[in-house]
Amino acid sequence: MIRHHLNDALLMGYSAGQLPEAFNLIVATHISMCDECRARLESFDAVGGALLSGATIDAPEQVMKNDSLAQVLARIRQAPPEMPARSKPKRGVFPAPLRDYVGGDLDAVRWRAVGGGVRQAILPTARDASARLLFIPGGVAVPDHGHRGTELTLVLKGAFRDEVDRFGPGDIEIATEELEHTPIAEPGEDCICLVVTDAPLRFSGLVPRLLQPFLKI
Ligand code: ZN
Ligand code: ZN
Repeated sequence: MIRHHLNDALLMGYSAGQLPEAFNLIVATHISMCDECRARLESFDAVGGALLSGATIDAPEQVMKNDSLAQVLARIRQAPPEMPARSKPKRGVFPAPLRDYVGGDLDAVRWRAVGGGVRQAILPTARDASARLLFIPGGVAVPDHGHRGTELTLVLKGAFRDEVDRFGPGDIEIATEELEHTPIAEPGEDCICLVVTDAPLRFSGLVPRLLQPFLKI
């Protein structure tokens, strides 16, 4: 039961192919877990397609001028419905896009300890944003920190809570500049997340700040 989803800006950026590689990875992974966002993405893909397919259309500006949003949506509704992607039998923890990216499931990950039982594995991506897997033992907190840019956290296994809400498997937290938070893995189960950031985090405590070079985030 997914309660926290991608926003329209991310879905539109993904549809238009304008996101950094790390963001593409997390969007694709969430979409593979979430029927709701997959359906919304198909709407954005259809709008993009409608804007681009132009036998009777001179320029995209014309479409925007002549077509109200209602007309665009009506056109989308007339399109034959997509077959809902059937969820494949689940093997392992990682959804397919992430498994492809990592080259395997959990056992293919080369974790590094970062203190307090927390482990992380940085995934190779283009440098405009970073992606990493985070392993948080049940009941353990990630140091509280703010964000200079956008941080997306997708729960793959277990759950965490922070000042905002509870995030379980499939949930994605979108943290921006304003948010200062301390994610804590729920007791009883280890929490594994995919985390993507487009700028270095700033930690509030002294010790975490000293650790930051080692965290490489
Ligand atoms: Zn979703
Ligand atoms: Zn954060």
